[in-house]
Amino acid sequence: MCKHCISPRNTEPYTALEATDTTENLVDVVIVGAGLSGIGAACHLQDKCPGKRYVIIEGREAMGGTWDLFRYPGIRSDSDMHTLGYNFKPWRESKAIADGPAILKYIRETAFEHGVAKHIRYQQQLFMAEWSSGDALWALKVRDTQSGDITTVRCNMLLMCSGYYSYEEAYVPDFPGRDRFKGDIVEPQFWPEDLDYRNKKVVIIGSGATAVTLVPDMAKDAGHVVMLQRSPSYVISQPDEDVIANTLRKFLPQKVAYAITRWKNVTVQQWIYRQARKRPERVKRVLLRWVRDELGPGYDVERHFTPAYNPWEQRLCLAPNSDLFAAIRSGKASVVTDEIDTFTENGIRLTSGQQVDADIIVTATGLKLIVLGDVEFIVDGERIDFSKTITYKGVMTSDVPNLVSTFGYINASWTLRADLIAEFSCRLINHMDATGYRQCTPRLCEDDKSMVTLPYIVGFSSGYIQRVMDELPKQGDRQPWLNPQNYRRDKKMFRKGAIDDGALVFSSPATD
Ligand SMILES: Cc1cc2nc3c(=O)[nH]c(=O)nc-3n(C[C@H](O)[C@H](O)[C@H](O)COP(=O)(O)OP(=O)(O)OC[C@H]3O[C@@H](n4cnc5c(N)ncnc54)[C@H](O)[C@@H]3O)c2cc1C
Repeated sequence: MCKHCISPRNTEPYTALEATDTTENLVDVVIVGAGLSGIGAACHLQDKCPGKRYVIIEGREAMGGTWDLFRYPGIRSDSDMHTLGYNFKPWRESKAIADGPAILKYIRETAFEHGVAKHIRYQQQLFMAEWSSGDALWALKVRDTQSGDITTVRCNMLLMCSGYYSYEEAYVPDFPGRDRFKGDIVEPQFWPEDLDYRNKKVVIIGSGATAVTLVPDMAKDAGHVVMLQRSPSYVISQPDEDVIANTLRKFLPQKVAYAITRWKNVTVQQWIYRQARKRPERVKRVLLRWVRDELGPGYDVERHFTPAYNPWEQRLCLAPNSDLFAAIRSGKASVVTDEIDTFTENGIRLTSGQQVDADIIVTATGLKLIVLGDVEFIVDGERIDFSKTITYKGVMTSDVPNLVSTFGYINASWTLRADLIAEFSCRLINHMDATGYRQCTPRLCEDDKSMVTLPYIVGFSSGYIQRVMDELPKQGDRQPWLNPQNYRRDKKMFRKGAIDDGALVFSSPATD
C-alpha cells in the first residue's frame, strides 16, 4: 500500500463539536435514511461512538424504507431473516422468510429499543450536500416535504443509508398501446389499497422476485393469474421456517441460537454461490431438476423456468413452501413466456400472435435505480460526477471526504454488508477522534491512477443493476479500490483492515 501522502497532523484531538454549540442543525454525524440500513447504522454509532451527536434525515413520514413502502399482496423477504436481520438483534419469529409487516415491526422495535427513533427527522429530503475543506463540514440542504421550507444541517461525517432505488418512480418499460387497455394497470411499488382483484383475470408482467411473490398470493383470490415473462429466472423452493433455528431457540439463549443460525446460513449460502460460480452447469442441472419434480413431466420447464444465464448471475427467486409451483399445479396460475407486441383493450397481444386477456395488469418490471439518494454532491465548489470516481472498498469515493455510503449485497442478504459498513464507519470516526484529524479522503496515488477499472459490480447481469452501472463509481484492480461483494472478505477488510492504509488521506482545516 503506498503512503504517498502524509498530511499535516492536527495535534489537538478532535472529540466532538463544541459543547457550547447548541444549534440543533450542527451535529457530528448525519445519517440519511431511516430504513433497515439507517436504523442499524444509528445503533452501531450509539454503541461504538458514544457521545457523538447525530440526526437521521428521512424523506418519508415513516421509518422502515423498503419495508414500509411496499404493500403489495404477499410482500416478503426472499432472504432468511437470520442474515437479513442485524448482527446485534436476534430474529425471534418462527418464520425465517418473513412478510413485510413483520420486517417493519423488527426495524421499528430496534429503533425504539435502542433509542434511535427520537433522532429521526421525518419528511426531510436531502437534495444537496456541499463539503467545505475550510471547516471540514458538510452543509446539507434539506427540503421539508410538507412545507417546502429549506434548512441547512451541518455535520462532519455523512453516512448515506438512502437505499438504491427511486421512491418516486418504478421502472416500467414503454409498452406499446398502454392507453388502449380498459382495465387497471398497477405498479407494485404503488399498490392501491382498495384494489379488488377477486375473481378477476390478472396478468403480472415480470419474472423477478416481485412477480414470483405476487403470483401465488393473488392466485388465492383472483380468477386466474398469468405470469407473463420475456425470459425466465431461476426459482427455488425452500420452507419458510428454519427447523434448526427454531429448535436451537428452544434450548439456547436467543443471542447464541441466532449467532449459530446466522453462521450456518452464511456458510451454506456462500457455498452455494461458490458452487454456482465454479460449476454452473451442475448447479443449473440440480435447480432445474427440482423444478421438474415440482411441476411434473408434462410441464415445459425448458421454456418457462430455464434462464439464458447461469445461476447467481442474477439473484435466485424464492418460492417459500413451493407456493408458486402449488399455484401453477392448482391451475389458478400459469406462466407465459413470450414478448409483448402491444396492450389491447382487453389484455395483451404477444409477438407470437397469442392474446392474453386481463382485467388487471401488474407491471412487476423492476426498480428505477438511483445513485446516493439522488443528491447533488459538491466538494469545495466542484460538482461530483460519481461515474468518474473510483470506489474505496465499495463504501467511500475517491476525492470525496467524510462520506460513507451503504450498498448491501446483491448475492447475499443486504444487512450482512450494511452492518459491516456501519462498523467500519465507527472505526473510522474513532480513528479520527484518536488522531485529531477531521477530514478523511480516499486518494489515488500516481500508480493507482493508471490501474484497470471495472464496473462497481461485476458478474451480475440483472437489468436493474446494468441500467445504472454507468452512473456508479468504478472499482479498480487492487485493494482498497475493490468492491468484492464477498462477505468473508468484507468482514476481514472492514473489521481488521488498517484504517490508516495510505489510500485514506487524513487532514484537518489549516485554521484548526
Ligand atoms: C420488494 C423488495 C424486497 C426485497 N427483499 C430483499 C431480501 O429479501 N433480501 C435482501 O437482502 N434485500 C432485499 N431487498 C433489498 C432491500 O431494499 C434491502 O434489503 C434493504 O431493505 C435496504 O435497506 P436500506 O435502508 O439500505 O434502503 P431503503 O429500505 O431503500 O431505505 C432508504 C431510506 O432512505 C430514505 N431516503 C432516500 N434518499 C433520501 C434523501 N435524499 N433524503 C432523505 N431520505 C432519503 C428513503 O425514504 C428510505 O426510507 C428488497 C427490496 C425490495 C424493493
